Amino acid sequence: MRIDLHTHSRASDGTQTPTELVEAAVAAGLDVLAITDHDTAEGWVEASEAAREHGLELVRGMEISTRHEGHGVHLLAYLPDPTYPPLVEQLALILRGRRGRVPAMLEKLRDLGVAIDDQDVREAAADTAAAGRPHIADALVARGVVADRTEAFDRFLSWGRPAHVDRYAAPLADVVRHVAGAGGVSVIAHPWGRSRRRRPDEADLAALAELGLAGIEVDHQDHDPETRDELRAIARNLGLVATGSSDHHGAGKVDHELGINTTAPEEYARLLELAAAAAAAARRSTPEVVRP
Ligand SMILES: [Zn+2]
Ligand SMILES: [Zn+2]
Repeated sequence: MRIDLHTHSRASDGTQTPTELVEAAVAAGLDVLAITDHDTAEGWVEASEAAREHGLELVRGMEISTRHEGHGVHLLAYLPDPTYPPLVEQLALILRGRRGRVPAMLEKLRDLGVAIDDQDVREAAADTAAAGRPHIADALVARGVVADRTEAFDRFLSWGRPAHVDRYAAPLADVVRHVAGAGGVSVIAHPWGRSRRRRPDEADLAALAELGLAGIEVDHQDHDPETRDELRAIARNLGLVATGSSDHHGAGKVDHELGINTTAPEEYARLLELAAAAAAAARRSTPEVVRP
């Protein structure tokens, strides 16, 4: 059984529609796919329909932009009730912050002599709810300023680069609690990724586990083999689920093909058990896993 628990569609910054993502997952030989767009459940309905049609098992989730001790942390939330008010409120704040910084970053780019405007970004963002840096990057590619998204981030958009602007991110501990309140489970995404300025250590992860963190994304392209071994050991020590996934963005991110990392079936089964317990405790109407 091949299980990929972290992927993006055009509902955030992937390049495939949810339907295309599901079709690509089937073509890649996956049995289980999670759709986890940034800070939005907008791709869920279309992805669920496509999954039913194509006989793919689908887990509905999202990747929430949070902050912990001044540093950005991505939190994967699986099977939360997306109408849970505290979660809705946080997601709205995050989306507003992301949209709000686009004009500020465009102004910085203009100061650097790079002229792209709102319209370029709107075209790049198409119909996503989460217009942000990747779409500025796409506009820079379309204008021929850079060759690809990676160059756009490395030269202009990443933290510490000249066009970067900080934005709102929800406090991590609050989001872990809100996800639990929404009857879902949370898994910390690529915690020791390349772009991290400070790695949450075992004590940090233990504190998050106390708050309800269910798992750690261990097998991710940002983690080298040594990092994976260390994180797997921490997950074992803390009784956390260890997941693996592609963080696929369609053509938006190279070396993140569907299924490039996968989650072991027994870890997936544990995650679903924890999700069922969280749903029962929260007494919310949570999304079911879409089963073929
Ligand atoms: Zn991420
Ligand atoms: Zn991601």
